[in-house]
Amino acid sequence: RLYNEVQDLKGNIRVYCRIRPFLRGQNGKQTTIEYIGEDGELGIVNPSKQGKDSHRLFKFNKVYGPAATQAEVFSDTQPLVRSVLDGYNVCIFAYGQTGSGKTYTMTGPNAASKEEWGVNYRALSDLFEITQSRRSSFMYEIGVQMVEIYNEQVRDLLSSDMKNSFHPHGLAVPDATMLPVKSTSDVMELMDIGQKNRSVGATAMNERSSRSHSIVTIHAWGTDLKTGASLRGSLHLVDLAGSERVDRSEVTGERLREAQHINKSLSALGDVIFALAQKSSHVPYRNSKLTQVLQSSLGGQAKTLMFVQLNPDVNSFSETASTLKFAERVS
Ligand code: ADP
Ligand code: MG
Repeated sequence: RLYNEVQDLKGNIRVYCRIRPFLRGQNGKQTTIEYIGEDGELGIVNPSKQGKDSHRLFKFNKVYGPAATQAEVFSDTQPLVRSVLDGYNVCIFAYGQTGSGKTYTMTGPNAASKEEWGVNYRALSDLFEITQSRRSSFMYEIGVQMVEIYNEQVRDLLSSDMKNSFHPHGLAVPDATMLPVKSTSDVMELMDIGQKNRSVGATAMNERSSRSHSIVTIHAWGTDLKTGASLRGSLHLVDLAGSERVDRSEVTGERLREAQHINKSLSALGDVIFALAQKSSHVPYRNSKLTQVLQSSLGGQAKTLMFVQLNPDVNSFSETASTLKFAERVS
């Protein structure tokens, strides 16, 4: 094993919690975050309750407070990313309500600023740099796919023909356009194409992106230069749809249908990870497009990392509580 991570965490599922800061103009807001421990403890407080019941303690593999930098977060993620070069399949998810920082963690706020790059830029350029360094006895090729799952349909974001990018009869990720990465500028270009295509046909990009899952998949094919043996690994980087529950009495039509699809796929994902964590013999992959698409990278030897994203605002308390409930079940 060339790049395998230090085995400091047992099992193949780990959960990191990240709390975003209050944004500019939100000074003086009351926080639900009471305590962040060194060992992954998170204490939250429910302002509408009194006494002992209002405080709860959670435990994660890691917790990042509002001051954590993108580089810090990536340094704990990098070993997992690099294990792809040893032939592992890895899935990294960001879960949380809209506005909790999922896209910030996975992509970052500004591609032009390297400091602010999120996990997907960092992972892609890290893997690319390693494979170019010729330090190892392996030669690698890197390829990338990007898809979006919206209303249980998979859409190819790197297709040269975006008008026909929806595949209603079940495009699987293996069929989506795969682009090779041969330079660092390829990395940037490709991310840019995917992001632009994501907004094609969407009236309000932000609105829409919070209701679809986006998946960047990085494939690495390695050949041992001495023996000729080959290996392949893959990394799925998933920015999930917002987990907020919508009030059924308030939405109808298309909006209700979207909400139902999101509910279904997020709970299917929770069920799959829960079954894997329990080492259950039956893992219910077939219940959503998301879990079908990721099936080969969830379970078995595959490794999973979930970023649980929280908005610290007291007004988000009920969503925070439901996000933590989801996290507790899968960790
Ligand atoms: P989501 O994708 O979950 O809807 P975003 O990533 O878009 O949430 O984050 C919402 C807002 O908060 C954005 O303006 C984003 O730049 C900002 N934000 C999120 N996380 C952080 C962070 N760790 N540091 C600074 N700003 C953040
Ligand atoms: Mg987002």
